[in-house]
Amino acid sequence: MTATKYKIIFLAFFLLSKINAQKIESKEKKTNYLEPEIVIPGNFSSPPSDAIVLFDGSNFSSWHHSKSKEPVKWRLNNDKSFTIKPGTGSIETRKEHGSVQLHIEWKSPIENKGEGQSRGNSGIFFQGRYEVQVLNSYQNRTYPDGQAGSIYKQYIPLVNSMRPTGEWQVYDIVFNAPKYNNNGDIIKSGSFTVFHNGVLIQNNVEIKRPTMSIEKATRKTLMLQDHDKNGTVSYRNIWVRKI
Ligand code: MG
Repeated sequence: MTATKYKIIFLAFFLLSKINAQKIESKEKKTNYLEPEIVIPGNFSSPPSDAIVLFDGSNFSSWHHSKSKEPVKWRLNNDKSFTIKPGTGSIETRKEHGSVQLHIEWKSPIENKGEGQSRGNSGIFFQGRYEVQVLNSYQNRTYPDGQAGSIYKQYIPLVNSMRPTGEWQVYDIVFNAPKYNNNGDIIKSGSFTVFHNGVLIQNNVEIKRPTMSIEKATRKTLMLQDHDKNGTVSYRNIWVRKI
């Protein structure tokens, strides 16, 4: 097959996936979903002694942009956090990872622009493929398997334990990586357990497939998503423990 044919096929797939995403997002406003119960969360803690710190507020040394491999262009803030600079691309860890416990704190943009999937959308991709959704789901409806804490388009969070816009959210995530054979094929599915602000929202769910995304990474890195212009999400205090 010629390179031109490949390009045409790729473009057709890309356009179809765009149309499909638009259909899903227009449906979210019309449908009466059975939504997760709202729970008021408690407080969170500091890193344990055996944590591998991926961001402590001082620099991006553990990260680079996932496509270009260039130094991170996102904004480093004075309060030991950083903020996505939309359009610069997603970032990923320089190192790959297997099964991990991840702690990460994030904050939706205070401006509250956009609705549904357009309000503060980012995401945490494990091994570059499996997304735990980051979204402003405080008084912002969308399809439940796409709201904050969902395993995107696979699992609805058990409850919605969002703090209000402008407050820090905390995810504590247990990711059991899929098992691969020597060809890189999955021979045993991975799983997720997720706590949002200390509240269990995913209980050992089996990963069915990679997240629908045009940014399919092949490296097993931890990736933070630059989704769109309203996705100026901030992050801080990121660490993992190997399992
Ligand atoms: Mg996302």
